[in-house]
Parts: sequence; structure tokens; C-alpha cells
Amino acid sequence: MGEITRHLPTQGVVLRYTNIKEADRMLTILTPALGKISVLARGCRKGKSKLLAATELFCYGDFVLYRKGNFHIMTQATVQDSFYDIRNDLDRLVYASYILDLTGEVANPGQEDNILFYLLLNTLSYMCYSDISPMVVTHFYEVKLMDHLGYRPILDRCIACGTNTNLAYFDIRRGGLLCNGCHKTDRVGYNIQMGTAKTLAYILDMDIKRLGVLRIPIYISQELDRIIGAYIEEQLDKKIKTRQFIKEFNRNSPKD
Ligand SMILES: [Zn+2]
Repeated sequence: MGEITRHLPTQGVVLRYTNIKEADRMLTILTPALGKISVLARGCRKGKSKLLAATELFCYGDFVLYRKGNFHIMTQATVQDSFYDIRNDLDRLVYASYILDLTGEVANPGQEDNILFYLLLNTLSYMCYSDISPMVVTHFYEVKLMDHLGYRPILDRCIACGTNTNLAYFDIRRGGLLCNGCHKTDRVGYNIQMGTAKTLAYILDMDIKRLGVLRIPIYISQELDRIIGAYIEEQLDKKIKTRQFIKEFNRNSPKD
């Protein structure tokens, strides 16, 4: 008591949570000004708690927090958008859960990142409300995210020798296209069709407002999926479990 507490209003998106004790929840929330933060929602799972709705995954809300040691305590929360419909479609749910996971892996604690916050928020919005395929929304997010993190791939020339012809491979380690000649020497790289490389370049330069009209043929989506998945893993140097899960999920429920 008597201690000065600073109440901090912030927007946020709930990335993950763990239930603790009888009715508490420890959350990871992505904010624009503080990056990724840990937030304790005390008593939020009690019957009448006003905090509960705002502590669900995907929830975009306005929170009031105060800092306590290396985490924050939630004192108020208003839901702006629960993105509820993401839960009504298994496909959307699986891809959107992966997007939260990936974001949780790359976001920096305590560090301002407006771009990441709004990229995530807009992407969840498309995942929830648009009719574009969850896989395409996910690829868009992954490509934009990698660019934002400083891993923009080189797509206009061979990353080894600089030529702009016969670019038929993608080198996940160096992050760019590789020509046939360099591929023969280096023996690295994934096959990439011109359409896939063009789609990658298109997404890199595209505004998120155009995402609603982005259509990618399935054969390109599949190739993109292999390459981006491997690229993310290589550059971040970690496996994202939910991405592995998506692979299994798609294998067990083939799309027509
Ligand atoms: Zn080359």
C-alpha cells in the first residue's frame, strides 16, 4: 500500500495463455508500444469476471495494466474484436493459431513494434472476415513478417553470381534465388517455378489492403508453402510446432 502504481492503457492481441491457480490466467499479449508482454489476469475464470472475454486467444482489446516486476497485472479490459468466427472453421483456426505462435516466437519483449502489431491485427481480420483461403492469408503474413524482420529475399537475380537468367532455385540459407549454374556447383536450393518467385515478389510489394483480392493458384501455393516454411525455419533457426501440425492436418484432410 502507498506504493505508486502506474496504470497503463494499451491495445493488445492475446497470443497465448496458461491457466494458473483456480481462476487466474497468465497471458502473452502483443502490444504496439511494448512489444510482447506477460500479463496476469487475476480471477478472470471466475463466473462473473469481466476480464474473461478479453483473455481468450486472438482477442483484440483495450487493456489497462500496471507493472509488477517483470510482468503486468490486468485491471480492466474491453474487447474490440474477439475474431470469434475464426473458431467456427477448423481451417482458419489451425492457420490462425500458427500465426499467433509464430508472432509469439519473433516478437521482442518490451520493445515497440507498431508494424508487427498492425500486421498481425489486419491479418487476423482477413482470417476472420474474408473469404480468401487461410493458407493464402498465412503466406501473406509469413512473407511480410520475414521482410519486416530483415529477411527480405533477393528475387531479381542470382544471390550467388548476380545473373538474372535461369533462376530456378531458392536458397533458404542465403535468402534468394539461385541460377542453374550456381545450383550445380553449390548443390543447395529448392526448385522454384517462375510463377512462385513472381508471387513472392508481388506479396513483398503489396499493400495489405489488397489482400482481399489476392488469389494464388493451388500449385503455386503448395510450392510457396514448402519454400516459406523452410525459409522461416532456417532464418529463425527454430521449428514452429504448429506449422508442422498444419502439414499433418492437411495430409489427413485433403482439400478438393
Ligand atoms: Zn548464379
